[in-house]
Amino acid sequence: MQGVSREAHARLLPLQQMKPAVRIVFAPLFHRSKRVRDQGLKLHGQARGRTVWIDPRGKNVARTLLHELIHVQHPSWTEQRVTAEEARRWDRMTWRRIAELYRMLGSAKLEGESD
Ligand SMILES: [Zn+2]
Repeated sequence: MQGVSREAHARLLPLQQMKPAVRIVFAPLFHRSKRVRDQGLKLHGQARGRTVWIDPRGKNVARTLLHELIHVQHPSWTEQRVTAEEARRWDRMTWRRIAELYRMLGSAKLEGESD
């Protein structure tokens, strides 16, 4: 897209059109991170490369997916910046965009399941 920075362009793309595709895996993450556990928190999601892991027991799994997709799009961003961007985007999302996040979750694998 001309006249638009790569980063701004990535922000305009619907999330489900991210290329290469993002692999989503459901896994029991809640107590997997000692650092998070020691803070009395639960780990809801994790991203590495183009793979996102989500604990399906979370209260807002679609929002967790949004958060992790921002990590995928911006691997260098701090947790604070990702969380701020997640809040900014979530508040502006239409019901359709939120529905698209749920649809993406429909293609998720369960941990240990082959592709
Ligand atoms: Zn995060």
